[in-house]
Amino acid sequence: MDIHKIREDFPILSRKVYGKPLIYLDNAATTQKPRLVIDSLVDEYYSVNANVHRGVHYLSQQATELHEGSRATVREFINARSTNEVIFTRGTTESINLIVSSFGEEFMQEGDEVILSVMEHHSNIVPWQLLAARKGIAIKVIPMNDKGELLLDEYEKLFSEKTKIVSVTQVSNVLGTVNPIKEMIATAHAHGVPFLVDAAQSIPHIKVDVQDLDADFLVFSAHKVYGPTGVGVLYGKEEWLDRMPPYQGGGEMIQHVSFEKTTFNELPFKFEAGTPDYIGTTGLAKALDYVTGIGIENIAAHEHELTAYAMQRMKEIPGLRIFGEAPHKSSVISFLMGDIHHFDMGTLLDRLGIAVRTGHHCAQPLMQRLGIEGTVRASLAIYNTKEEIDALVAGIERVSKMF
Ligand code: PLP
Repeated sequence: MDIHKIREDFPILSRKVYGKPLIYLDNAATTQKPRLVIDSLVDEYYSVNANVHRGVHYLSQQATELHEGSRATVREFINARSTNEVIFTRGTTESINLIVSSFGEEFMQEGDEVILSVMEHHSNIVPWQLLAARKGIAIKVIPMNDKGELLLDEYEKLFSEKTKIVSVTQVSNVLGTVNPIKEMIATAHAHGVPFLVDAAQSIPHIKVDVQDLDADFLVFSAHKVYGPTGVGVLYGKEEWLDRMPPYQGGGEMIQHVSFEKTTFNELPFKFEAGTPDYIGTTGLAKALDYVTGIGIENIAAHEHELTAYAMQRMKEIPGLRIFGEAPHKSSVISFLMGDIHHFDMGTLLDRLGIAVRTGHHCAQPLMQRLGIEGTVRASLAIYNTKEEIDALVAGIERVSKMF
């Protein structure tokens, strides 16, 4: 695999910041977009733009074909059984809110419980808290060890007759831990409980097969897998989605409306009120095709090698602490250097052209568990190189000399 050739697919990677070549290591926040994704957005606005589904005219039918074709691409990418199980949303956050609201409305009563983990992103915590405030449900939390691995014995103990759903991230956006989600799903199913997988940080890096995992729900965002912003996916088993009420009301999600009684559309449209981002879904399909073209296994192998190299080089820096050392780790490296504030480190690395993220990474309960306020986070993608890791290490050393 020629990474330098892959880099040429991403126009932004050749730009400079502060006169220095951009080293983009903030991929867990969002990935850069290959030219073919950007072009697909522009091309569709130029030549196909028309609202989908309800038009008899040529353009509308063509736009609909593209949009529904994208659904088929997503289905294939995650190996869902049917396109009825692929709902388009605005992102992971909206997908989770949809499930919490709709599943919670139908299947959860006061006193019922949801199991989350200590390493969840706020978007897999706060919607449950809002439901807790509305309905009086309780939240149980799976703890972790100091390496950043979830304690599976403790997880088992959290189940009760009141447990209605488990919702856990496949990969931590802070620690990089790849959770044993298939095993955790099997445990939940042994208790008769469905499982929601937050795949926001796994979908760009590892093979995700919803049937192999036996996930009941799985959610992700297009922008973290080389696609456009504003588009997300909610996969749900048809048997669950069929029984869940709509999330929002409006056009598209209805079969017939009268002031006396409204009937709802079939899946997947029941959960897609209003005009969808049909341009964005085309971009997502192009991004997934791009990933498939390179091969997710090849991407995983490259990122694995790069992460191992980065971990080894960074551990050689005296005074540097890494957070998240699970044996099964994705390409996210959180660290702190001596007593240098993460914000100062991030700001000074930025002046060297190195884009990293600093702060709590929308995971404040995890920060509390780690006993810190925030970290510096370098997160890698397919286009990153060993030379960029060397530049990061040199940058950290340079910044530390300044303090
Ligand atoms: N879940 C995880 C694990 C994430 O890392 C993120 C984003 O960083 C989200 C959910 C939320 O994704 P979005 O902001 O695209 O909705």
